[in-house]
Amino acid sequence: MKVRKIPLRQCIGCMEQKPKKELIRIVKSKDGEIKLDLTGKANGRGAYICNNVECFKKIEKRKALNRAFQQEIDKEIYEQLYEELKKNEK
Ligand SMILES: [Zn+2]
Repeated sequence: MKVRKIPLRQCIGCMEQKPKKELIRIVKSKDGEIKLDLTGKANGRGAYICNNVECFKKIEKRKALNRAFQQEIDKEIYEQLYEELKKNEK
């Protein structure tokens, strides 16, 4: 039997490779809109971040999303992402 490979993606915060399921996806749709993709299934170019606030702080500081998508990212997107990650804080 073939071993099923877990798809890994790199977090743009800590730059670690992690299973896709553990990461939050941010996607740029065809019409250029940047949004959180909580289903992981939206079409478009994606960037990934670990599901924790620490990695968020890293990407916020470095504006890593701007770099990942090579464009200005609305502060709102960062805020949305932060709210989402905060939900998982314990
Ligand atoms: Zn990370």
